Amino acid sequence: MTDSATPPLIRLRGITKTYGSGSAAFQALRGVDLDVASGEFTAVMGPSGSGKSTAMNLIGCLDTPSDGSYHFRGVPVQGLSRDQRALLRRRHMGFVFQGFHLLARTTAQENVELPLLYRGEGTAQRREHARQALDQVGLAGWEHHTPAELSGGQQQRVAIARAIVSAPTLLLADEPTGNLDTARSLEIMELLVALNRDHGITVIMVTHEPEMAAFAHRVVHFRDGRVERDELRSPQPQAEPA
Ligand code: ADP
Repeated sequence: MTDSATPPLIRLRGITKTYGSGSAAFQALRGVDLDVASGEFTAVMGPSGSGKSTAMNLIGCLDTPSDGSYHFRGVPVQGLSRDQRALLRRRHMGFVFQGFHLLARTTAQENVELPLLYRGEGTAQRREHARQALDQVGLAGWEHHTPAELSGGQQQRVAIARAIVSAPTLLLADEPTGNLDTARSLEIMELLVALNRDHGITVIMVTHEPEMAAFAHRVVHFRDGRVERDELRSPQPQAEPA
């Protein structure tokens, strides 16, 4: 992958997405243009059904657009095969979801090791990298607990450790605080801010909570399958000391 004159990390042009066909066809995205620079922390907001998750799935290479172009670090994603897209996803992207999506009977350590297993890392290396990632999210000492033995906030931390264990360029978070109370939500936001600030991970986060979006550098508002408003905020708010 080439990295010449520093193109934006993400460049979407004229992106459309139509689900279904004929009279049942529904256009979830109706021409999205969006650039995201490396190192940004972007919040995505908008009413339910406005296309936020569809856009996240396209950016995360979990789905393909009906039309338009997507460049990731200058590479045209639409020109990649399914396997190449999977490789790009594995190498560059981490995902965090509202519902954590952890394996239930599996320890925090094993959950976090999973992406490294897919990468073919050896046992000792996997163990060490997972331990470091859990440490990074404040869960040192909790390696051997299963999700049922952890609070919601801790489970989301495990999910974040799993997302960052492979040192992604981009973290895609779809309502990461949607299942958490305010205190736990703010802790998760502080963690995401730290990963962005200290490790240079670009973050794109869907949220419907203005309080959480306030942590971002930028808020992109979707409506009816389009970007309605793109709001820059600076500087990034700092977390209050506890
Ligand atoms: P948001 O995340 O903003 O709530 P989505 O991107 O999930 O919006 O959905 C946008 C629109 O596309 C919605 O009207 C939704 O019903 C429709 N949609 C999403 N996924 C599918 C699908 N797999 N098949 C058909 N329609 C879909």
